[in-house]
Amino acid sequence: MILIDGKKAAAELRAELKEEVAGLKSKHNKVPGLTVILIGDLTPSQIYVRNKEKSANEVGLKSEVIKYPDSVEEKTVLEKIKELNSDETVSGILVQLPLPKHIDKQKVIEAINPSKDVDGFHPMNVGNLSSGYESSIPCTPLGCYLLIKKIEPNLSGKKAVVVGRSNLNGKPMTQLLLKENCTVTITHSKTKDLKAECLEADIIVAAVGIPELVRGDWVKKDAIVIDVGINKTDNGIVGDVHFDEVSKNAKALTPVPGGVGPMTIACLLKNTIECFKRSQK
Ligand code: NAP
Repeated sequence: MILIDGKKAAAELRAELKEEVAGLKSKHNKVPGLTVILIGDLTPSQIYVRNKEKSANEVGLKSEVIKYPDSVEEKTVLEKIKELNSDETVSGILVQLPLPKHIDKQKVIEAINPSKDVDGFHPMNVGNLSSGYESSIPCTPLGCYLLIKKIEPNLSGKKAVVVGRSNLNGKPMTQLLLKENCTVTITHSKTKDLKAECLEADIIVAAVGIPELVRGDWVKKDAIVIDVGINKTDNGIVGDVHFDEVSKNAKALTPVPGGVGPMTIACLLKNTIECFKRSQK
């Protein structure tokens, strides 16, 4: 079984991006800039943002974090986004989710100029991705996609099952696999026989949020299994896939932690650079 090392893949991607940023700097005499807006003092969000800033600096991006207290008014955030939209030194804008209840998430997402939407959540980018046009691609599914391609460069005709249909993970993942000519089944909480669906799959991507949902006898021999889940349990952090059982069957499997997670941030940097390059065209 191939243990898909997301930490290593992310480090390799960051090294490639660092070189690319150096090239862009000498060509344009400026570097891509990422601005993150962080609202409130939720510890996981603070940790994510700190890691994003550290990784952005490491590859040579200009990075900035704008912090607001939990009580910030929605209009203040929307005005800041408007200002960032017209700031030429800002290539990518990310508003760290979740947001306090009094702030409308969709309004905030739609306020970001789609060409600076490094999360790929703006409806324009969602539509472009599903139409097969150039777009920002949500970072986690993009990371999953890059890991799958490392194991199997030609995905044409493969049967893929995506477990979970969130806008963040399942739906964009489906689009990426479709683009690679996979035959894709998207499953969710109302799917009748999830085990039977998974047993058909050459590729399984699990993004559910239920600890160890995907069991060993759900997985065809030689399947590639990507575990997006991050679930806190009494036994520590586990994924949506039962690692010990599935590792006996699968051809390749991502661990949790150390699989998809590290690729998510690396893909955010990649998206920032892509936004910069499109803005220079
Ligand atoms: P989400 O928005 O809660 O969506 C979960 C999806 O799973 C929904 O579509 C839901 O179906 C489906 N589902 C729930 N129970 C199911 C069941 N019994 N069988 C089949 N499908 C079921 O979650 P998310 O934001 O996509 O996150 C999923 C997991 O990924 C979480 O553990 C999260 O922490 C993790 N995550 C990891 C990363 C990373 O960087 N590695 C990034 C983001 C999220 P319905 O639509 O029918 O409700």
